[in-house]
Amino acid sequence: MDRVPQVDLRPHIEELDAEIIGALRSVLRSGRFILGPEVGAFEEQVASYCAVSHAIGVASGSDALELILRALDVGSDDEVIVPAFTFIATATSVVLAGARPVFVDVTQDTLNLDPGLLEEAITSKTKAIIAVDLYGHPAEMDTIVGIARDRGIHVVEDAAQSLGARLGEVRAGALADSAALSFFPSKNLGAFGDAGMVLTDDSELAERAQMLRAHGSREKYWHETLGRNSRLDTLQAAILGVKLKNLDRWVEARRSHAAEYVSALSDVRGVEVPVERPGASHSYHQFTVQLDHRDEVRDGMSSRGVDTAVHYPHAIPDQPCFATEGDWPVSRRAAARVLSLPMFPELTIAQRERVVEALEASIV
Ligand SMILES: *Cc1c(COP(=O)(O)O)cnc(C)c1O
Repeated sequence: MDRVPQVDLRPHIEELDAEIIGALRSVLRSGRFILGPEVGAFEEQVASYCAVSHAIGVASGSDALELILRALDVGSDDEVIVPAFTFIATATSVVLAGARPVFVDVTQDTLNLDPGLLEEAITSKTKAIIAVDLYGHPAEMDTIVGIARDRGIHVVEDAAQSLGARLGEVRAGALADSAALSFFPSKNLGAFGDAGMVLTDDSELAERAQMLRAHGSREKYWHETLGRNSRLDTLQAAILGVKLKNLDRWVEARRSHAAEYVSALSDVRGVEVPVERPGASHSYHQFTVQLDHRDEVRDGMSSRGVDTAVHYPHAIPDQPCFATEGDWPVSRRAAARVLSLPMFPELTIAQRERVVEALEASIV
């Protein structure tokens, strides 16, 4: 029997093959490869999808985070609050912008930034808070933005995993003062390589980000500020434009797999299934359970033909590149207990059943 992969990117591509090839061919024929018309068209498409005023295509989600901080003039002497449990890029963006990350623990249910710990982490140097919609579940943005606004602190939504999710009627990507999207191939909306985007309603921030992605210039060969090269590739924009029209359908498929997983696993001893808070609509970029003896369970599932993943095996302050002393009990516990089950829109019922059986049989 074939293994059940943790993620399979091919079915999407097969399904849209003709349309994608057509879009690529039209870029090839136009010969406009850098910031070609497909980039602007895709930026407008995402801005309209998320109902934000400005979308700036950049080279990756990591760059989107860093460019937002640079555009805000965050730099040396400044502090930026980030969750202690996330993908590394959330925190490295702060250092790359020249500032200092301040790690705050997460809540046990969603593993998102714990708003109850923000007040004690905020200092006179805090310039921004980056809240991550981990696994596709929106962070507690109402509370976080409320705390930040009173103090003039900018809130960045790291929406790399949550495109297609919502909090009330508001889409992920539009929940804070700005947002970073990633189109890494395995994200909810994936390119065939690296790509990312900055979203904001703030025209000044948008203009600064636009300059920073193109060597600090608005006008060719006139450089008002120090920028770099971080543009969204035109071929990737053409692919993403085709794929975005299908995103809601794919997110619905993820949600329906998640509902089936939850009902099959809720009674399995020792397995904590992901929660969806009232008012939130999870995009299930990952379906991540928490359990003891994670590594043994993972090996057991693997020997039964089911691939899983660990997002993420270490709290960020414990990574050698940060090696920060402190107390982040929920993050550290999560790092030892999280296990992401196979999740992609085209997962079949038979595959899902094999995942559940393999998990039940592997519980230690
Ligand atoms: C993927 C991801 C990023 C970085 O995006 P890239 O496009 O891979 O650079 C940042 N933050 C989170 C939470 C992510 O999952």
